[in-house]
Amino acid sequence: MLRLFTGMRDKTINTVLIFSVAVIFLVSLILSIFILQPSQSHMVEIVQDDTVLYTFDMDQAEDQEFTICYDNGSSNTIRIQNGKICVAGAECPDKTCVSMGELYSKSLPIVCLPNHLIIRFAD
Ligand SMILES: [Zn+2]
Repeated sequence: MLRLFTGMRDKTINTVLIFSVAVIFLVSLILSIFILQPSQSHMVEIVQDDTVLYTFDMDQAEDQEFTICYDNGSSNTIRIQNGKICVAGAECPDKTCVSMGELYSKSLPIVCLPNHLIIRFAD
């Protein structure tokens, strides 16, 4: 009788454990799908200090590479290729903007903090 009870309790714990793991898995799956959802907008803007420097329609933008230079000597080289935009090179301390790769999601803009530069999908 005692054994049966213990067995049942183990089963309940297992069920709760599996259920929790499943819920955590589902929540993270939904979150990642939501965050990494490709943007519906094809308009990309390059913004510095709330000023829009450039706007591109990714459906029509030609492959190109250009460098934005700043007064303090730093710069960002922007590359547009096959309808994708990325920071190809930068004169900034952390180079996070370069390692972020291509702009993909609306909720994940490419940011160069040292240069106050943001590349994002426009509404
Ligand atoms: Zn940077």
